Amino acid sequence: MRQTGKVYIVGAGPGDPELVTLKAVRLIGAGDVILYDRLVGKELLAHAKPGAELIYCGKAPGRHAMQQEMINKALVAYAQEGKTVVRLKGGDPFIFGRGGEEALELAAAGIPYEIVPGITSAIGAAAYSSIPLTHRGSAASFACVTGSRCRGGETGIRWDLLAHSVDTLVIYMGVSHLPDIRQELLAHGKDASTPVALIERGTTNKQRTVVGTLADIHELAESQRVKNPALIVVGEVVKVREQLAGLEQQALAEYGYGEMFG
Ligand code: SAH
Repeated sequence: MRQTGKVYIVGAGPGDPELVTLKAVRLIGAGDVILYDRLVGKELLAHAKPGAELIYCGKAPGRHAMQQEMINKALVAYAQEGKTVVRLKGGDPFIFGRGGEEALELAAAGIPYEIVPGITSAIGAAAYSSIPLTHRGSAASFACVTGSRCRGGETGIRWDLLAHSVDTLVIYMGVSHLPDIRQELLAHGKDASTPVALIERGTTNKQRTVVGTLADIHELAESQRVKNPALIVVGEVVKVREQLAGLEQQALAEYGYGEMFG
């Protein structure tokens, strides 16, 4: 009987093809089969060995190129053929990445597997937007939350607690639910003047950051046509971005050098 292969569930990082671990690059190079998601930077696939089978499992919101169940079955089947399988996912596989579901499926089928973490988009996009998610004096905590289930109060997400007890909120999959998210946060006591940043295509060469407040962010998102993939960062730390920009402008004027603020 052929020996069972192994499945690596690998974080591909947030977009910049250099924001990836050495382990991820090594495994991409070792994979016989690579099943990759929509948000995976295509440059990473260049690390694949010649002849590796590259399979797109992209999922645009609301559309599924390959249903999760099919992906799970494919991972098991390829491993049973003795192959080294790399399941490449945007950001970190365990942060809104369904990596847990895939691991459960593999474990149930007795397939050896390993999880390789990646830089989640919240961490990457915040850094590339000059927004520290924690900052002495203004944020001692942050939470990553999904905005996709924010509709009409039937969310199962404790927006009341999040609004009160977490300093910085990073909301994934939320740009198309901004009015509901705003309503939840305002209803639970967040101030309308709380700064909000939308970061579109964070860490890629198409990154764009739009800054407003809870009061006007939805209108800004509409007028600036902010599209997925994008993150919503809510909290006082958003102001640090402006502070840094101001200081950099000043330094530029004073010393005539310094990185221009992107
Ligand atoms: N596992 C991924 C998240 C997948 S859920 C991670 O760890 O980052 C998909 C959501 O992630 C998108 O709707 C968006 O909110 C966010 N996202 C992923 N990549 C992004 C990027 N480069 N810039 C901004 N948001 C991103």
